[in-house]
Amino acid sequence: MNLMKYRVAQVVSTANLVSKSDKQKLRRVLMYHSVVKNTDSAFRKSDIYSISESYFTSHVDFLAQSYNSADRKVVSLEDSSSSGVSVTFDDGYKDTLTIAAPLLCRNNLPFHVFVTPANVISGGNRYLSETELVALSKLPGVTIGAHGFSHQHLNTLQATEITDELKSSKEWLENLTQRNITTMSYPHGAFNSQVQEIAASVGYLYAATSSWGCYQVGVKPLEIPRIDVWNLDNQKTLKQKLNGQWDWIGKLLSPLQETIK
Ligand SMILES: [Zn+2]
Repeated sequence: MNLMKYRVAQVVSTANLVSKSDKQKLRRVLMYHSVVKNTDSAFRKSDIYSISESYFTSHVDFLAQSYNSADRKVVSLEDSSSSGVSVTFDDGYKDTLTIAAPLLCRNNLPFHVFVTPANVISGGNRYLSETELVALSKLPGVTIGAHGFSHQHLNTLQATEITDELKSSKEWLENLTQRNITTMSYPHGAFNSQVQEIAASVGYLYAATSSWGCYQVGVKPLEIPRIDVWNLDNQKTLKQKLNGQWDWIGKLLSPLQETIK
């Protein structure tokens, strides 16, 4: 989405006064990717999935201040509470450890990190190293989950390949972190019923999609919708997204997102 389209969407969403419905009380799961220094080239290039440290800080401030009561708090995906917010990061970027984690931990906010082992093994400088991933897994409130072994569109693979992707990523992360891995997110948001069945059979209990929407806790835990967070989303936009004011565009964009991530 280019800047102009984003600004139009912003104007429409701001005017979109969602009535106080039950929908607003359902759990919303935020999907982040990379959080970068304001001077970082990824930020300057306006990569939609690289949010600036300053915007992310404003998000954390908002969550810490506004989600601090029993029925309105930041919780992990596994939490039985039907409302509140869960925070997730995809891919396993180094900045999840160096920039995002300190801000979230300082405010005692739990979060999930869905890691693609192939990214770690690649040694690419944007991704967590093995040592960094272990350090991240030991922080309070952090749950490490899988994100396929090599970030493939799982819905395009044969059953044996799907099993291999889901099982090997789980085992690799379990060996490294010495923790049970029971959560995952689908790379590119790509899944189908066969992928879900295999995910369940190899031991995943929760799986996040990239489809926009609220999570009805207890319903389809292997198909958890999320709210996409973009680089231009300031604190006000985050608030609107959590209020449901951006649901109209999220639903329009969801089918496209599968192809771009
Ligand atoms: Zn990904």
